Amino acid sequence: MSTIFTKIIEREIPANIVYENDKVLAFKDINPQAPIHILVVPKKEIPTVNDIKAEDRELIGEMYLAIGEITKELGVQEEGYRVITNCNQYGGQEVFHLHFHIMAGEPLGPMRA
Ligand code: 5GP
Repeated sequence: MSTIFTKIIEREIPANIVYENDKVLAFKDINPQAPIHILVVPKKEIPTVNDIKAEDRELIGEMYLAIGEITKELGVQEEGYRVITNCNQYGGQEVFHLHFHIMAGEPLGPMRA
């Protein structure tokens, strides 16, 4: 089932897009949890990490390469950043279209406070 991220990919609703190629789109999170909070999504609809298939191997690589380009452009590679993917209920996933959160711009501390 399509989500709001497909609407963003298809430009049916607006988003602050920071990166795009033929397979991947990245845009600012609407409710940022860090000074820099970007979502990296595949244009292909994959609901969760559980749904990644062997055929998606290259696509997942493309997503990490996009993270590299975005963080380089932002100038945060040396100071560092966090990349997170939530999966299903216990992971706190709200949008069922695979995405990586890039969080940066301040010390993020341990994963569990
Ligand atoms: P999840 O909890 O599924 O890992 O994260 C979903 C993220 O998508 C949340 O951080 C939320 O703020 C963000 N989000 C939800 N709806 C929209 C939207 O319409 N536009 C943007 N830019 N971000 C959204």
